[in-house]
Amino acid sequence: MIVTNIPRRGIEVQAESRSRPSETKPVPVRFWGTRGSIPAPLGPADVRGKIREALLAACRFGLSDPASVDGFIERELPFSVRGTFGGNTSCVEIGAGGDEYLLCDLGTGVREFGNRVIAAHGPAEPHVFNVFLSHVHWDHIMGFPFFAPAYIRGNRIRIHGCHKGLREAMLRQQSDPCFPVPFGALPAEIEFVELEPGVDYPVGGFSVRAIRQFHEGESYGYRFSRGGKAIVYSTDCEHKAAVLDPSYPFVEFFQNADLVIFDAMYSLAEAVSVKEDWGHSSNIVAVELAQLAKVKRLALFHHEPAYADADIERVLRETIRYEEISRDGHRVEVISAHDGLELLV
Ligand SMILES: [Zn+2]
Ligand SMILES: [Zn+2]
Repeated sequence: MIVTNIPRRGIEVQAESRSRPSETKPVPVRFWGTRGSIPAPLGPADVRGKIREALLAACRFGLSDPASVDGFIERELPFSVRGTFGGNTSCVEIGAGGDEYLLCDLGTGVREFGNRVIAAHGPAEPHVFNVFLSHVHWDHIMGFPFFAPAYIRGNRIRIHGCHKGLREAMLRQQSDPCFPVPFGALPAEIEFVELEPGVDYPVGGFSVRAIRQFHEGESYGYRFSRGGKAIVYSTDCEHKAAVLDPSYPFVEFFQNADLVIFDAMYSLAEAVSVKEDWGHSSNIVAVELAQLAKVKRLALFHHEPAYADADIERVLRETIRYEEISRDGHRVEVISAHDGLELLV
């Protein structure tokens, strides 16, 4: 099965820089999937709720033409009403800027990423995709069977990870009767690269190091460094508040990072009670760890699938407030990742 004709509908086609990686240029970080555990698309009641909120807010404004409507949407409506955090599971692109791509995890967000690459460059242009898998829980690999570049001969996909069982998990996911195209039949050249935690590896112009995390199923975080900048991808890890002190290994791993993408799936109350030992952290521990490590920007990630957009926005507000009142000199900028978000680091 070779995919040669990907529909362009809904895909924003942009020319991408194909220059060599630069040590000084800002690094774009694109979030293709930010939801935890399982895809969580909006339902009709969610959409109706957003329309209702928007119309109620609009009653106070005399909106008479498209420009005033656009301005109202942009200025007056919160993100949870005018947009959505999205429902795709974990997939984050770290822009290498050269002929290679760096991807963290293969959740359902990777489908849109793959379609975007093909729409931008055409199906015939070959690429190298360097994937770093946190672990093989389903939400982190389930997008791969729908990753169109895997169906195109000439593409190279290098799947990095510290697990012994990466290959087996990927093969099993596409085995009969669960999926019609077996992994071994994919036309792209696919290789598995086993990494050792704590060792620096040069990949796509970055130095990449892994750390073992606290999570059932053995997850790993990754630190990507280049030209004095550092981006950390650390999802599916349960940090307990009691262990946080300057000697905690993640303080060094996060140290002075420009961006930390952090699993803040639960509230503090959930993380210390009913959901303790479920393998995920709270927004409060996120802030405390980021403060200890003097992180510049903290992106809350792996959102709880039961949370509506308004819930995620409330968590963000509370987290920003907590960072303000607990700050001891160093300011951590707190944001909440959403599908489609692009940051320059
Ligand atoms: Zn997960
Ligand atoms: Zn997991």
